[in-house]
Amino acid sequence: NKQRVVIVGGGFGGATAAKYLRKYDKDVEIVLIEQNKEYYTCPFSNAVISGIEKMDFIKQDLNALQKNHKVKVIYASVRKIDGENNSVILENGEVIKYTKAIVSPGIDFKFEKGYTKDNQKYAPHAVQAGEQTLLLQKQLESMKDGGTFVLVSPADPFRCPPGPYERVSLIAYYLKNNKPNSKIIILDQKESFSKQGLFLQGWKELYGDMIEWRAGSFGGKVISVDPKNKKIVTDEEEIEADVLNYIPNQKAAKIAFDSGLVENDWCHVHPKTFESKLVKNVHVIGDASIATPMPKSAFSASTQAKVTALQISRLLKKQAIINPPKLANTCYSLLNPNYGISVAAVYSAEDKSIVAIEGAGGVSPLKDPDGHIRVLEAKYAYAWYETQTKDIFK
Ligand code: FAD
Repeated sequence: NKQRVVIVGGGFGGATAAKYLRKYDKDVEIVLIEQNKEYYTCPFSNAVISGIEKMDFIKQDLNALQKNHKVKVIYASVRKIDGENNSVILENGEVIKYTKAIVSPGIDFKFEKGYTKDNQKYAPHAVQAGEQTLLLQKQLESMKDGGTFVLVSPADPFRCPPGPYERVSLIAYYLKNNKPNSKIIILDQKESFSKQGLFLQGWKELYGDMIEWRAGSFGGKVISVDPKNKKIVTDEEEIEADVLNYIPNQKAAKIAFDSGLVENDWCHVHPKTFESKLVKNVHVIGDASIATPMPKSAFSASTQAKVTALQISRLLKKQAIINPPKLANTCYSLLNPNYGISVAAVYSAEDKSIVAIEGAGGVSPLKDPDGHIRVLEAKYAYAWYETQTKDIFK
């Protein structure tokens, strides 16, 4: 009886898991199930929204995994995982048995306060790339000079902690060059955010007063939203936006809920193997899992995938797992095409939790008198994207 690993989701987590499991085990059968034939990455989607890059730049697919790495790719939607019977059930009713399953389905949204599945197109979140990216890009393009762009930034935890702030930076870059009388308001559902000092300093330096950030308890809290009319009620006033980028609060993707993998909105896992605490032989990685203090990032999803693939390959061969496995993350953000900042960390997965290794990470220096670090980090951001996508999708 051949061993089979079934992977659900072909984004950063799932695709990396497939590629690396093949590196660690040349015989195991690997089946990757993904609902979309094309995958548009969220990394660099902010550059597309602001007109710096085109959609083609962020387009990836699973063809190379299938052709070069002996991964069987099935394009289908998964209804649920039946942990009792070690099987994955597709939307069309087909049943696929597994020895182990890896699940990396990403996020879903909490539709509340007036934001719904049906009206999201009027106030696109653009935190699942593709159609949503284009919607927001088009709305920004047709905004009048002197208009107000409002971004609502979600409560923790959410996909890509620096993402909303990189987005307003690049939108400010676009507005400065095309519609300089416009302004940007960020309504934050939190009190602070990732790389805050660096962002606030960079915004002043590059864009003067164009970007206004309102913390949760200083006018940021959203009470309700009317996407169609682009109106938002905060606890202080009603704001009418010209473009409204509403990023709702988040939870694990639906398939995780339907498969009994979720407790309190997210999938809780054993840190050393990412095996679910609720369903045996099912490993959850990427944004759907809780791997605190790792952020929900593509980089995190891919290192979690590498560790999980390695541990599964060892478990299948009845070898001891690597103990403790190490993980890493770096998130670059662009404030303009030549101005980058970053945060990095290295982690050790211990018995009860994942621990950041002291002294092994940090953020860009606040002081960069001649600006050469910011220029270099912008180059690193592009280089990161190129190496990461090559490592995963080629
Ligand atoms: P995803 O990449 O979302 O993949 C999930 C896949 O599962 C999807 O392809 C989906 O179609 C599939 N799927 C879901 N349900 C089913 C089902 N039922 N059946 C079949 N298939 C299914 N991270 C970085 O590291 N660096 C960055 O610079 C960066 N920039 C970002 C910028 C923005 C604006 C945003 C929003 C995010 C950014 N991120 C970045 C974060 C990154 O995009 C996510 O953390 C990453 O995509 C998580 O990978 P994942 O595998 O968990 O989920």
